Amino acid sequence: MKNRLAIIVPCYNEEEIFSFSSGKLTNLLKDLIKKRKIAKNSFILFVDDGSKDNTWQLIHEENKKNKFVYGLKLAGNVGHQNALLAGITESLDLVDMSISIDADLQDDINVIEEMIDKYTSGIDIVYGVRNDRKSDSFFKRFTAQSFYKFMKLMGVKSVYNHADFRLMSKRAMKDLSEYKERNLFLRGIVPLIGYKTDCVYYARGKRIAGESKYPLKKMIKFAFDGITSFSIKPMTIICMLGIVIIVVSIIAMLYGVLGYFMGRSFDGWSSLFCSIWFLGGVQLLCIGIIGQYVGKTYIEVKERPRYNVEKIIKNKDKDK
Ligand code: UDP
Ligand code: MG
Repeated sequence: MKNRLAIIVPCYNEEEIFSFSSGKLTNLLKDLIKKRKIAKNSFILFVDDGSKDNTWQLIHEENKKNKFVYGLKLAGNVGHQNALLAGITESLDLVDMSISIDADLQDDINVIEEMIDKYTSGIDIVYGVRNDRKSDSFFKRFTAQSFYKFMKLMGVKSVYNHADFRLMSKRAMKDLSEYKERNLFLRGIVPLIGYKTDCVYYARGKRIAGESKYPLKKMIKFAFDGITSFSIKPMTIICMLGIVIIVVSIIAMLYGVLGYFMGRSFDGWSSLFCSIWFLGGVQLLCIGIIGQYVGKTYIEVKERPRYNVEKIIKNKDKDK
């Protein structure tokens, strides 16, 4: 059968939730195999992103007793996006499709069957889209949705309310692995791949154990990274700001000259002071934004590896 599936699950310090997730996903695989939707040798690939707790030991033990569980141990913590890419790249040769999902299963695994049906009907990329965020706190919902809106405003094409829960066919996985950027923002890259795409909708659940690995600081960094990796709109805004400030200063100058001829002179100290500080601030900000792009170029040209694999455990009987 040409439908071997890998469910790819990045894990960073997820010991509290691991057995819950692996149990649920194993049952799901068994069910899908029984329904003949996927091949018998499909598997779940847990990617340990340099966890500091017992996540890897748990994956290892589970692999010994559960033939559906595979493990990939990265040499250090490289972040969610790189861990996902590692899972996709390393399982590419084994499978016909992959589905990526977070370890806490906040995304509804019951729509996986629908994703596979879409794949079978010829769709290459199926996005999981959250259409109900009631279970998120007001703060999480607000920040996440502002994030999607701001991204759109900045000209980044991404699927609204879609995180990293998606199915990809083998050829889409292969194409994704050809994108060599180090500033990885998968939600922005995947829509660039092309092919036929579709969405499935679900309500996002609560994290039942462990805590979110995306505190506000990380979310802001993620948003900023996403924008500067996909759009140079901030630089266009800087240019426009420059033009506006020049026009305003010309008007102010004319006003001053006119006042001089009409016998009115302006007491200049405080206005001079304010405008110098204001412009100084604007300039620093703009240099900072441009610096972000220069810095990114610096990171990219070094072409350092995005992850290093320490160990991979599979099921030898199935991969002969
Ligand atoms: N994660 C990872 N590496 C990291 C941080 C997070 O692999 O450095 C994984 C984490 O284990 C989880 C997923 O990324 O499977 C999403 O994290 P989380 O559920 O904490 O984010 P949230 O749902 O709160 O946005
Ligand atoms: Mg989560």
